[in-house]
Amino acid sequence: MSDAAQIYPLGLQVAGRLVVVVGGGPVAARRVRSLVDAGARVRVVAPHAVLGEQQIPVASETPEFETGPAGEPQPGTIEWVRREYRTGDLDGAWLAHTATGSAATDRQVADDAERARIFCVTAGDASVGSAWVPAVARTTLTDDAEVTVAVTAGRDPRRARAIRDAVAGRLASGTLPLRRHRPRAGAEQGRVWLVGGGPGHTGLITARGRAVLAQADVVVVDRLGPRALLEELAPEVEVIDVGKTSGNHPVPQHEINALLVQHALAGRDVVRLKGGDPYVFGRGGEELAACRDAGVEVEVVPGVTSAVSVPAAVGIPVTHRGVARGFSVLTGHDGAANVPGGPDHTLVLLMGVTHLAGTAAALVTDDRPADTPAAVVEDGYGKRQRVTVGTLRTIAAKAAAAGVKPPAIIVVGDVVRLSPAWPT
Ligand code: SAH
Repeated sequence: MSDAAQIYPLGLQVAGRLVVVVGGGPVAARRVRSLVDAGARVRVVAPHAVLGEQQIPVASETPEFETGPAGEPQPGTIEWVRREYRTGDLDGAWLAHTATGSAATDRQVADDAERARIFCVTAGDASVGSAWVPAVARTTLTDDAEVTVAVTAGRDPRRARAIRDAVAGRLASGTLPLRRHRPRAGAEQGRVWLVGGGPGHTGLITARGRAVLAQADVVVVDRLGPRALLEELAPEVEVIDVGKTSGNHPVPQHEINALLVQHALAGRDVVRLKGGDPYVFGRGGEELAACRDAGVEVEVVPGVTSAVSVPAAVGIPVTHRGVARGFSVLTGHDGAANVPGGPDHTLVLLMGVTHLAGTAAALVTDDRPADTPAAVVEDGYGKRQRVTVGTLRTIAAKAAAAGVKPPAIIVVGDVVRLSPAWPT
């Protein structure tokens, strides 16, 4: 009867249905928690119970001297029959669960359940019951689009949990094909995720970023960011390239905003895959506002910003004990006049290649001398990664001689000396 090969896996809709749990120990309490979460009406039969640990609200307690259970508990709460199990306690149940710690009691519950044609899970000895609780992994992207993976493993619950954990890891990292295939019902909207993709290396996007990418119907991408991940997308996924190149803005921001909204309103899940972090010179705030204004649900998934990671790629820490006590991230687009601080306050400039000569000259102040170290890091983590070092006085000429091209990060401050590229 308990041959694992003969298990018939099912998902049970227990919401609103009576489930009787016999026993009040930690195992029983955990099962009660899951049943309550699934909306079941739960009756617990046990003289003692550790339900408090699971923060389970007890709606009614039946005193020991009463013969039978009280009325059925409401969903989200439990009824606790505070005494030993008696035949008859399973009356009206769709499912029984016994975890009393006593083999004799568990067997009695299982036998009563069998006679009443109620499926029964026996926690202690799986060979006694008629149902098994699998180890479960769930996605946490959105409540309605949840994926549930249930594992049973030949009556070896630890083995099942080990497999479950492996699956959970892959669900979380977005390496499983999570995309919905059945379209949303009726006029239901899709969602937008503004995902920080990191500086470009596929290993430097967050696990959540990858997970939402794995279930997207539409991906709106920039030139920067982990574009290699696009090759892993299913062929049906629509990829829209709005990539900006320096000095050339093919798709204006208001059109990008409109694209996100329009696809979400049409019921598609949209990932806006951006370089670095969405909020660091990424116009993430504008995209967020556009979605909210249109009544579209939107979530920001932070990313590893190039401002910190690209210097790290060439061995420059933006802060370092005894060398730099802080850092500022600025755009080099509009020059960089009046930036306070000395060589012990690191400056990180994004989008600064075009105006490098003017910026470097403007950064020289009484506090920050012309011999302050500076570095230009091109294409961090990419094939063309290269670092050019100099000082505020020399960096523009050196960069011009080297033919430096965007994308590049400019770092100014004593931390540049820590890079292996700095001449000793
Ligand atoms: N939101 C992004 C920045 C967007 S602005 C972030 O947080 O990283 C675009 C600028 O970022 C580029 O002009 C360049 O200065 C910098 N940048 C982004 N990725 C880079 C990379 N891999 N290498 C060098 N610079 C990069």
